[in-house]
Amino acid sequence: MNLLRAIYPERVICVVCGRPSQGEFLCPKCTEELEKLRLEGEKEHASYRYEGVAKKLVHRLKFDNVTAAATVLARAMGLDAVKMHLSPETVVTWVTMPEKRRRIRGIDHGQVLARAVGLRLGLPVKRLLIRSEKHPLRTQRGSSKERRLRNLIGMFTAEENLPKDILLVDDVTTTGATMETCCGALRRAGVRVTHLTATKVD
Ligand SMILES: [Zn+2]
Repeated sequence: MNLLRAIYPERVICVVCGRPSQGEFLCPKCTEELEKLRLEGEKEHASYRYEGVAKKLVHRLKFDNVTAAATVLARAMGLDAVKMHLSPETVVTWVTMPEKRRRIRGIDHGQVLARAVGLRLGLPVKRLLIRSEKHPLRTQRGSSKERRLRNLIGMFTAEENLPKDILLVDDVTTTGATMETCCGALRRAGVRVTHLTATKVD
């Protein structure tokens, strides 16, 4: 058991609750709990309610740098349905994290999630959004969508030489203001953007 744990630690215990996981990243109980949070017929391309196991998975990825959580989210995001709408030339990208924050956290968790999604879809992953470092890192919790949209003006610009089709992936949507801003920055360059979020705050 100890040897197995040393070789495959993330497949021995559940990334959410730490209980034995029967060789999976997520134990059967957490898998069942996650399924209950699935959003059905969601027009905004969000997969789960940002609660319980889904929220914990995002936190493991975001604050504990557990990349296996991205694998679990990507696998659970209903990518087969999304893939039907994507051209084979699609490139996967993410909402770039502020450089200062990335240095503190060690990873850009959005990039890790995009990589997990790209791997599952068999599509390349590339940074396509440039984030202005001039904007203050203020927390936006609790502000209205209009206010958030105003705060985000000029925050993101698109890289040059964009691919024609882009899949923009994010971990959490609250008002959708960030996604809207990022999609706008890419679409202004005349490309087709599909967006997909792992979880959505109710
Ligand atoms: Zn579990």
